Amino acid sequence: MGAERVDVIVVGGGTAGCSFVSHLSEVSDASVSLFEAGPSVASHPSNLFASMARSGVMDTSFGATANDKGDSYEYLQAQVLGGGSAINGLIALRGAIDDFNEWCEFDGLTDWSWERVERWFERVDTPTSLIEESTRQSVTQLLRDSWPTSLPVPLAVVGGLRQSSDGVRFAAARASGRVSIRTHSRVERVLFDGARATAVELADGSRYYATCIVLCAGALRSPVLLRRSGVDIEGLGENLQDHPSVMFAAKRRAPFSGDFPITRYVPIKFEQAGDAPDVAHVLAYEQIDSHAEMGGIGVSLMDVYSRGELVEVGNGKWKADFRCLSDGRDLQAMAQVIRETATDLASADLGSAFEAGDALRLASDMQSLADMTDQLLAEWLRSHVRTLSHAAGTCAMGVVCDAKGQVTDIDGLWVADASLMPRIVRANTNETVAMMATRVAQFVADTLGG
Ligand SMILES: Cc1cc2nc3c(=O)[nH]c(=O)nc-3n(C[C@H](O)[C@H](O)[C@H](O)COP(=O)(O)OP(=O)(O)OC[C@H]3O[C@@H](n4cnc5c(N)ncnc54)[C@H](O)[C@@H]3O)c2cc1C
Repeated sequence: MGAERVDVIVVGGGTAGCSFVSHLSEVSDASVSLFEAGPSVASHPSNLFASMARSGVMDTSFGATANDKGDSYEYLQAQVLGGGSAINGLIALRGAIDDFNEWCEFDGLTDWSWERVERWFERVDTPTSLIEESTRQSVTQLLRDSWPTSLPVPLAVVGGLRQSSDGVRFAAARASGRVSIRTHSRVERVLFDGARATAVELADGSRYYATCIVLCAGALRSPVLLRRSGVDIEGLGENLQDHPSVMFAAKRRAPFSGDFPITRYVPIKFEQAGDAPDVAHVLAYEQIDSHAEMGGIGVSLMDVYSRGELVEVGNGKWKADFRCLSDGRDLQAMAQVIRETATDLASADLGSAFEAGDALRLASDMQSLADMTDQLLAEWLRSHVRTLSHAAGTCAMGVVCDAKGQVTDIDGLWVADASLMPRIVRANTNETVAMMATRVAQFVADTLGG
């Protein structure tokens, strides 16, 4: 039997992979094989923690350090058809207008202005609803009372159902008969003929050939796959970014009983100009992990300047070294937001949300944070900061890839996932990733058509 050959191979069936295939099959007749390391699951729970608790849908094998002060931790990533969108916190926010206008300032990226990307967002916008009003629980109410400027979070949920990227549009692509989906199929390396990518190889040694190979394995796995395949382009695996975050958690008065643990947020802008992008978000978490009795307030920096990189740690293993707050602008902004949040929480009625003893402890912790010297607060932040699992930037356009997602100096090889972002957007990343992957699908369709 001859080797299998298709027009396009997609590696990774997460947010980017499913968005890419959906659009490509709408605008071209290309034959596609999609390889996904995880399983396909009929439907996904709306609750973030219920989604993640299912067996075999998470990849926690990638180590991470937030910075040189903090401990190592397992970085949470999805490993399932639908990827992050099948397990994530559902917050559906587009990147800010200024994010894309700033991308234009990177070498060769003028085509990514807001004016150019807006219609692509319109094409992929995930249907959302504002759940919070109907499920008003204690932490949500605390945020409403303490910050009258807070807003309900748009959640990628309709009729109680998670709107993941392996949903409706992808199902239509699947039904086209031109797309074959191979789950439980981890691609080990990309193979080349000179400067042209020609095939992928799986762990069992089987090889699959295509005219275009498109990496959608996510911002940690795509660069590692390129390295393992012998690609050594300057900047590959560098420019690693995520949103630094700190969680203030305590035991709730009553265990959380709803479906949507993240409900309401406060966009923080230092300059009160109306359209300025958010510097940070303060979020109400009705549940902070699989224990339904713990709730919290999360503070996340959205406007990020620090840059980390992927580091090989031996035995084929890699670590994400985020170097959070290593840029003084991030440290200063985070310190300001934490101090303001701690001051507000110290005087808030925490007893309305949290158990009496816990509320008191949290209030005194808040007071001591609010009173800390700059130096002590900086130390505290560097020990406590984590990230939101929004990894981005490791195969950046303008550095590792061109403005269409094609890997520099290699024919037939593209990237279409979160690694392409030159600078992480000032919003949760899923909607921007879907938009970018859809655009790259159009570029690949144009290439195949031409
Ligand atoms: C816990 C969590 C909560 C989040 N919450 C939010 C939120 O509320 N709102 C928001 O906007 N964003 C959120 N995000 C981020 C968002 O989901 C991601 O930015 C987005 O999913 C990235 O898309 P991607 O396609 O680049 O990667 P992913 O969606 O992670 O997809 C990568 C896929 O590739 C597969 N893969 C990897 N390597 C291989 C290989 N070698 N061969 C075959 N397949 C492979 C993986 O199994 C995975 O399915 C969250 C992410 C996580 C993990």
